[in-house]
Amino acid sequence: MIESRAGAGTSGATLEDLIAGRLPDERGRFGEFGGRFVPETLMPALGLLEHGAREALDDAAFRDSYAAQLRDWIGRPTPLTRAERLSEAWGAHLWLKREDLAHTGAHKINNAIGQALLARRMGANRVIAETGAGQHGVASAAACSRLGLPCTVYMGEVDAARQRPNVQRMKLLGAEVVQVTSGDRTLRAAIDEALRDWVSDPEGTYYLLGSAVGPHPYPWLVRELQAVIGIEARDGMIRATGSLPDGVVACVGGGSNAIGLFHPFLADAEVELLGIEAGGSGTGLGEHAATASHGSPGVLHGSRSLLLQDPYGQVRDTHSVSAGLDYPGVGPEHSFLAEIGRVRYEAVGDGEAVAALEECAAAEGIIPALESAHALAGAKRWARERPGAVILLGLSGRGDKDLGILDGLREAGGLVA
Ligand SMILES: *Cc1c(COP(=O)(O)O)cnc(C)c1O
Repeated sequence: MIESRAGAGTSGATLEDLIAGRLPDERGRFGEFGGRFVPETLMPALGLLEHGAREALDDAAFRDSYAAQLRDWIGRPTPLTRAERLSEAWGAHLWLKREDLAHTGAHKINNAIGQALLARRMGANRVIAETGAGQHGVASAAACSRLGLPCTVYMGEVDAARQRPNVQRMKLLGAEVVQVTSGDRTLRAAIDEALRDWVSDPEGTYYLLGSAVGPHPYPWLVRELQAVIGIEARDGMIRATGSLPDGVVACVGGGSNAIGLFHPFLADAEVELLGIEAGGSGTGLGEHAATASHGSPGVLHGSRSLLLQDPYGQVRDTHSVSAGLDYPGVGPEHSFLAEIGRVRYEAVGDGEAVAALEECAAAEGIIPALESAHALAGAKRWARERPGAVILLGLSGRGDKDLGILDGLREAGGLVA
């Protein structure tokens, strides 16, 4: 387990460093996490990407074109909805940041269109992406179609079979879908394959990574593009309630929707931040995907972060009812925030998440994604701890994609919370 001292990590880096923008540092580290652990052939491409991204984000014309896509194509700002009946049932004041209403049905599009604009600006002639459940693949395919860029999506064979409608969507949107038959044939293998493709043409190909993970500069870049969620939500809470919320809750897979929501609140010391991971079916290695809760430091997919690994350092398969949370790593910024104790991470199991999905659908007329349902279950627990609290919840996506999984569970006799 990692040690933690209040405010500072084992590396001596502090929350103040993060808030002041001194992290990631020049080596791409958030304290002892992050960095760039990749084959030598990719180092120049990552350097160019970092330079291109910094230049773009500092350029008012680029920021304007990003803002226009967010507004006119994605439909931002997304609403902030007061959940009237859940608030009453839970004895809290619950507000939902509605990323389910963003184009393509989840937050992933914020990052996909931002990076696709960057790919075009940097002169790439093709874009590649990885996908697990298919949400990032669909977002990337849509963004590339919008900008006229050829797009290839790597997807594990197992996931492609489980998520056929998303494969159809990607194809309709003009992407080539490559089914990966190596390794675990899921997300982990798809990322490995995308990195292999990139190594073969690091100049002409742009790798559009889907979460706040991977080698520097991705964790920073993806956070910058997803921070729009937290900026809008923070303003929205102040406008709607006159003050900041007591707690902010989001689900954590790789960690992009959570870091986007949390980041603008890091300096608000009175606001508690709660990241909810997939507790799966139990606490044993292989039964869950609760990396910040149960992981230990190691290197995966180009960066050092908390990982689910065995005593020999072998990264282990994970389990969750929710494909979007089913990843054995977590972003380096989350690893750092866990270490210094600024964000509390907890696990919610499959059964508790499914129950929260059903409760939200029945009470609010909103079917959340199974991923987002983990955050709802975490918020419900938090409400019990702090009666009357004002809670802001990141509703990362809509649940239409999960209806088949819910049917399967029902046929199998359901889940016990
Ligand atoms: C992909 C996905 C997630 C998990 O990814 P993060 O990078 O952790 O945000 C959560 N919710 C939904 C709806 C997703 O599609």
